[in-house]
Amino acid sequence: MPKAVDLTGQKFGRLTAIEPTHERLGGTIVWKCICECGNICYVQSRNLRNGNTQSCGCLQAERCTFDCVDGTRLNSLKSEKAHSNSGVKGIYFNKRNQRYHAQLMFQRKQHHLGYYGNIEDAKKARQEAEDQYFKPILEKYGAV
Ligand SMILES: [Zn+2]
Repeated sequence: MPKAVDLTGQKFGRLTAIEPTHERLGGTIVWKCICECGNICYVQSRNLRNGNTQSCGCLQAERCTFDCVDGTRLNSLKSEKAHSNSGVKGIYFNKRNQRYHAQLMFQRKQHHLGYYGNIEDAKKARQEAEDQYFKPILEKYGAV
């Protein structure tokens, strides 16, 4: 077991090391850190010391171009043209059942979010799905 380097109270970018955990990753100790934004996160000491990780992910999330992650071009999603017939991106008016069909393209797959009697509900469903699908990815990649 390599000798633990005491990082307690040291700052690494936005992160301040609080205490070492019992976890080991890649042979280095995982530290419990607090970010300036208030999030607690767990980072390998190696990544702290070499500057790879400088925030809980909020830094990257601000900086990130949101380009191709997990096979999803978040960038193109953001700028996706409203070429649907409802005028709202991801929502299509289904003439047959007279309902709004909410959809979301994610990882090259079309996700069907359901049919809604009014466009506001469909928009809400679409927004919730965006949060559900995209947030974990942003967090995951932002934290690297
Ligand atoms: Zn943060």
